[in-house]
Amino acid sequence: MVTLNANAQSKPSASLIVTNAAVYTVDKQHLKAEAVAVIKERIVAVGSKTDIDLWRGPQTKVIDAGGKLLLPGFNDAHVHFVQGGAQLDQVQLTDAATPKEFAKRMAAQVKKTPKGEWILGGRWDETKWPKPELPTKDLVDPVTGATPTFVERYDGHEALANSAALKLAGINAKTPDVPGGVIVRDASGNPTGILKDAAMALIYKAIPPMTPGQRIRAARGALKHAASLGITSVQHMNPEFADVAAYSELAEKGELTTRMYAVPMETDWRDQAKVGIRHAWGSTYLRLGAVKGYADGSLGSRTAYMFEPFADDPGNHGLLSDEMHPPGVMRDRLMQADAAGLQLRVHAIGDRAISMMLDIFGDIETEHGYHDQRFAIEHAQHMAQKDFERFAKLHVIASMQPYHAIDDGRWAESRLGHHRARYSYAWRSFLDNGVTLAFGTDWPVAPLDPMVGLYAAVTRATLDGKNPGGWIPEEKITLPEAVEAYTMGAAFAEFQERDKGSITPGKLADMVILSDNIFDLKPEAIRNVKVKTTIVGGKVVYAGQ
Ligand SMILES: [Zn+2]
Repeated sequence: MVTLNANAQSKPSASLIVTNAAVYTVDKQHLKAEAVAVIKERIVAVGSKTDIDLWRGPQTKVIDAGGKLLLPGFNDAHVHFVQGGAQLDQVQLTDAATPKEFAKRMAAQVKKTPKGEWILGGRWDETKWPKPELPTKDLVDPVTGATPTFVERYDGHEALANSAALKLAGINAKTPDVPGGVIVRDASGNPTGILKDAAMALIYKAIPPMTPGQRIRAARGALKHAASLGITSVQHMNPEFADVAAYSELAEKGELTTRMYAVPMETDWRDQAKVGIRHAWGSTYLRLGAVKGYADGSLGSRTAYMFEPFADDPGNHGLLSDEMHPPGVMRDRLMQADAAGLQLRVHAIGDRAISMMLDIFGDIETEHGYHDQRFAIEHAQHMAQKDFERFAKLHVIASMQPYHAIDDGRWAESRLGHHRARYSYAWRSFLDNGVTLAFGTDWPVAPLDPMVGLYAAVTRATLDGKNPGGWIPEEKITLPEAVEAYTMGAAFAEFQERDKGSITPGKLADMVILSDNIFDLKPEAIRNVKVKTTIVGGKVVYAGQ
């Protein structure tokens, strides 16, 4: 048994005991156990059922795990939490297989929508309809009336506005088309409600920003969703400061059931620095002290910045972000943010963008010295082989989302060519080079469910079923490695490895009981595993069946 206080005589009793569990601690000193004792927010002992029973008192709540797997709670190192929560509330149209069903779901959404708020989201797909034609406002006007509505096609490149939305945005027959966009019109020149690409901005300009009430509602939805998936901590990339205010309000009310590390834009680094906030500053529930930047775009839109042009688009190397124009300005900002003690986390997807970020991190270490800053590259998707060693030497964390590999892996090779695809989503290479991996999802870009992430990391089986043995199988990692990246690795990425990431006496009692033991399953089955119980700070925040 491992315990904080070996003196049995003076030992207080536990507030919570989880017993009869297959405990996988992620703590290399004692990887397995049967039971855990908790006092208030923290774990006090981990050991055999008999050992832990000694902590039982009259007030102790006991959870019998029925032999099921108990893991440390999952820590998602890269989410957009409030946006994700807002999306949960939105109408879901992707599988509406007929226009009639589309209109029915819209009508139901109108009933749920407070007066004056917009109906957004949707992600409809008219190719699934018996007659695959773009919808028009005539389909939704009768059910939406005065509720402004702007629902997107699943690919985000076109969207349907109702008459109320067109009116608020001032779009009519006289509105000229915008460069890079189309206002679809009927035979007499009136807008049909469909706006394409750049024309969508005409409507987005008219949508008011979230109210504090909407933000709290979105955050509450996200918290509930996270708890149901066994996620006990998240690292929110690019929150608005209003999101942090919402978390702060929820924390005060005791409603923050997921621990937050908020990582605002690097361009705003002074806002944190001027009040003296440094990395990981705050409480166990809500912390600040990092900044997030963007070095380039994405592979999907061919804006990831690459050394060589895209295989399917010769002449296009991708794009550096606005923040990198020129790179020296980014370097100077990050240099100052590092001097202020803020942690630096930068989105870089293309091999050249990653390389340029390593140059900047190298300059910062040369000037300020290495003092455990924990720079992170977010996504780190397509690596130049030459850069793994440097990545490790500069102590940079690879903050990655395994789901992207099985999603993008369907088409990534046509864009990259085989040679360059070899070091894409290269988890094995990172670990073999001694780089710390921190796993997450980028929710709502990818599903928040960590089981899907673990499945992706160990199988690399693309979603289209075309790579059952794994796409670039050399880069698969083992399940213990993937679990570690999703717990200890993510905790390390937010300076919380002493408080989180493993089931160890003294750490926060954030734990999850799963429906099945993922270590006994075939890798393909991991994605179907459900959460039975989620515990945060010694309290049950989710109980499934
Ligand atoms: Zn993101």
